[in-house]
Amino acid sequence: MSIESNIEEVRARIRAACERCGRDPEDVTLIAVTKLHEAEEMNEAIDCGITDIAENKVQEVLRKYDDVKPATWHLIGHLQTNKVRQIITKVALIHSVDSLHLAREIDKRAAQNDLVMDILIQVNTAHEDSKFGVDPQEVDGLIEEIAETCPHVRVRGLMCIAPFEAEPEETRPFFRAAKEIFDRWQAKGPSDRIDFRWLSMGMTNDFEVAIEEGSNMVRVGTAIFGSRDYRREEL
Ligand SMILES: *Cc1c(COP(=O)(O)O)cnc(C)c1O
Repeated sequence: MSIESNIEEVRARIRAACERCGRDPEDVTLIAVTKLHEAEEMNEAIDCGITDIAENKVQEVLRKYDDVKPATWHLIGHLQTNKVRQIITKVALIHSVDSLHLAREIDKRAAQNDLVMDILIQVNTAHEDSKFGVDPQEVDGLIEEIAETCPHVRVRGLMCIAPFEAEPEETRPFFRAAKEIFDRWQAKGPSDRIDFRWLSMGMTNDFEVAIEEGSNMVRVGTAIFGSRDYRREEL
């Protein structure tokens, strides 16, 4: 399968999922997750109409950035504060903010570059023992603290990673819980610092369920580029 036909197939599945729940496919942004893939493959995807690409590691962004055609870059993986400086001018949206500490570092670096950085709060609705993501009960407090203390940060929504389930249907409750928080904040209306627009959820295994539950940003890697060679991570 070629990258082109894979993208066509993913787009068809997005359209079908939207049809099932009466949504407009234009409302769903497809982000191609390019971790462990090379600039050449990324450019091929961009030639096929992909506008948004995502990496989970800062060093992957830096390594490939200059070789990739113009695109909107997203950071979707855990971000260490000491690496924020290196990507602050390169990415348009950081999906993985899960602490005030990280938000304040983003704020500091954004201020130095005279920009306002859009972020999503990573919410852990599965209450998993995972190291990353904020507990649903702590989301409101974190958003308020960020809005109070980080003038160069704008909270644009939420990111949610469901636990991998052999049966994608089983991810539904985790996405639904994130959508509830998202709707509550969106209903408050936009302010300078908080303007809910993006609900980033759904990966290769579960993006159709995520769309049915209200996702408007899906992060798809494997279904576009094929399986990743994790040996490359050693390089
Ligand atoms: C790798 C990754 C994806 C894409 O996963 P696939 O299963 O390959 O589609 C999406 N989101 C995050 C946060 C990732 O790390």
